[in-house]
Amino acid sequence: MKSNRRHLLVLVLFLFLLVLGSVAVIIVNARMHSPSAEKPTAESTLKEEFNLPAHSMRVANTTFGFPAGGIPVLMYHAIESLPGNSLGVPPQQFAQEMQYLHQHGYQTLSLDVLHNLIQNPQNTALPTQPILLTFDDGYADNYQTAWPIMRQFGFTGTFFVVTDAVGSGMMTWDNLKDLAQQGNSIGSHTIHHYDLTTLSPIRLKQELVDSKAAIEKELGISVFAFCYPSGRYNTATLAMLTQTGYTLAFTTEPGRVTASVSPLTLKRIRVPGGLSLNGFAKLLN
Ligand SMILES: [Zn+2]
Repeated sequence: MKSNRRHLLVLVLFLFLLVLGSVAVIIVNARMHSPSAEKPTAESTLKEEFNLPAHSMRVANTTFGFPAGGIPVLMYHAIESLPGNSLGVPPQQFAQEMQYLHQHGYQTLSLDVLHNLIQNPQNTALPTQPILLTFDDGYADNYQTAWPIMRQFGFTGTFFVVTDAVGSGMMTWDNLKDLAQQGNSIGSHTIHHYDLTTLSPIRLKQELVDSKAAIEKELGISVFAFCYPSGRYNTATLAMLTQTGYTLAFTTEPGRVTASVSPLTLKRIRVPGGLSLNGFAKLLN
């Protein structure tokens, strides 16, 4: 009998210690996983989850509305040496320019953001140093040479394509699809790159409507931006753009995009081949 009581006592003591141990483990676990124990910053979480490069973490430096000096829109064509033709920017020059922009805190805007900004400036968040990189004509080197350089710096661009030339020595639809999927913007630069001020209303309409439809069909995106071949336009061109569903259009006139600008006559800054880095810096200041 005595022996039975001793056994019972040992068993009760054992169960008591087991319960005590379990409670202690639960408390320690709860403390380790409480939010106050970890406190990851939003940035560290983003960086870990998406493995973003450091330069894309400048999300905190945003502002609303147009910057005081307006937004620079750089205009490039080919990113290759074209002897005797300043429309060709050598790849090394282009790479130095992208590096300069990165070092000076510039961040690229998509066409969508520029569109939102023009329509609703007070509610559109911008990086503190916004810029647009635009490329006219759809040269194959834009995809093969320019894009890999831009991507290294976290930049995206806007590519204006001549739809009849796509694939014939110029960028292919697959190239353009890849660019669009990686956050770049694509706009129309007509079907044939004709001087639009010389066309009949029917031909003019065709250049605007069919190029837009071709890009939309091939890439599955909505096209609302246009770029005038050789910068040529008149009042008939402006009216036809509105009639055919374009809401932004870029000229070759020098200047920046400011709050007071008309969305169908946006100004740009031409970057010629052979420009020094000092010269490039002056274009931006
Ligand atoms: Zn052109």
